[in-house]
Amino acid sequence: MKILCIGRNYAEHIAELNNERPSEPVLFIKPDTAILRDNEPFYYPEFSQDIHHEVEIVLKINKMGKNIEPKFAHKYYEEIGIGIDFTARDLQSKLKEKGLPWEKAKAFNGSAPISGFIPKGEFNDLNNLNFHLEINGELRQKGNTSMMLWNFDEIIAEISKYFTLKTGDLIFTGTPAGVGSVKIGDTLSAYLEDEKLLEFEIK
Ligand code: ZN
Repeated sequence: MKILCIGRNYAEHIAELNNERPSEPVLFIKPDTAILRDNEPFYYPEFSQDIHHEVEIVLKINKMGKNIEPKFAHKYYEEIGIGIDFTARDLQSKLKEKGLPWEKAKAFNGSAPISGFIPKGEFNDLNNLNFHLEINGELRQKGNTSMMLWNFDEIIAEISKYFTLKTGDLIFTGTPAGVGSVKIGDTLSAYLEDEKLLEFEIK
């Protein structure tokens, strides 16, 4: 399986990193070795001094598809969860400066902790979902899917133009404003609506 990620999908987050507002979504991929499950701890890597949290809603793909039209995209996922797109911001800044690919900064081991998944039918409106991240009990990031530049169906349509989606693939749908550093000893807790779905420690 693979993890597909959307960058720059929330306007306020684009502004905080001084990025350009894209005319199409920024896409990148993490390998399956990036996944942490079951609230496993994240081990702070030696190659970075500035690991950032990005809390994101995650879609789990439930059938194979490519060139999917937005109006059919809802048939390709039944469950959603929450995850953290860990980013070595110091490395990413260097790579961006040189115009190089982001893999070292985005796709490293443990860079994608994920929660369990919930049937999407449990939510009234997928285009109006609240989610947030707390660190040591303090609110750090808060988003609502109504603030996305591309909604879930548009994301699936765009990704599937380039990458065939397969059962079990995961899509990270972008982070709202408020990204920042984590440090060893922090506890991260991520919520979808009012339900805590993910909680783990930085070691
Ligand atoms: Zn992200």
